[in-house]
Amino acid sequence: MNKKIIIANWKMSPDSVKEAKKIFGGIKKVASKLRNVQTVVCPPFIYLMELQKMVSGHRCVLGAQDSFWERKGSFTGEVSPPMINNLKSEYVILGHSERRALGETDEIVNKKIKACLKENLKVVLCIGEKERDDHGDYLNDIKKQIENSLLGVSKSSLSKVIIAYEPLWAIGKNSQRPATPAESMEMSIFIKRVLADIFGKNHISNINILYGGSVDLKNADSFLQEGGIDGLLVGRASLDHLKFGKILEKANF
Ligand code: PEP
Repeated sequence: MNKKIIIANWKMSPDSVKEAKKIFGGIKKVASKLRNVQTVVCPPFIYLMELQKMVSGHRCVLGAQDSFWERKGSFTGEVSPPMINNLKSEYVILGHSERRALGETDEIVNKKIKACLKENLKVVLCIGEKERDDHGDYLNDIKKQIENSLLGVSKSSLSKVIIAYEPLWAIGKNSQRPATPAESMEMSIFIKRVLADIFGKNHISNINILYGGSVDLKNADSFLQEGGIDGLLVGRASLDHLKFGKILEKANF
């Protein structure tokens, strides 16, 4: 059985490296005991340097929350794929809806994905609809996000691609509600169908699909058991190491 992949997206928190080390230490303590879970913590860039010193083994690793697409050059404020790789970060979240809200397009996400794959990073591509409609138009939006973001990605890189389905209406403290496990299951099937149409059925079995959006201690179990997914992308609940540790334990079946 494949390990469940549980990713912590700390967004722009916590405020200090001291707190970051405390949360990461707490998560690592639980995560390093779990055979069937791959834990990935994505802190703000600025903490990767310190946290990489705390990484040991492969059960609890680090990831970045974004990357630039160029490897080198005059790009003030940007962080390159080699820089992320050199900080022992194996994963990178790309196309998060909060970055798309700041102007990131599918085309930009596509450039970032290709640059990060070249650097051998595992890419977590976030996709999701703003809202749902009765005609199923949101499915076309999802399809376009996948097609555009993965344009030109080779079949041989697909084992390094993870898709995180994160409906925007389910993310963050102002969200309407989490998706239901049934909705997650439906979308997982739909995403696999779109991927099979692009790359061929035989090439997509390595692509893991995650659900994200208001995952917490109460609903994590049902997503993992009934959501048709390979793991979770957790925002707010990942900043409380006790809560997040319990989510990790639930995933260890
Ligand atoms: C996220 O930021 O990707 C996310 C899912 O956030 P939350 O769990 O807080 O809704």
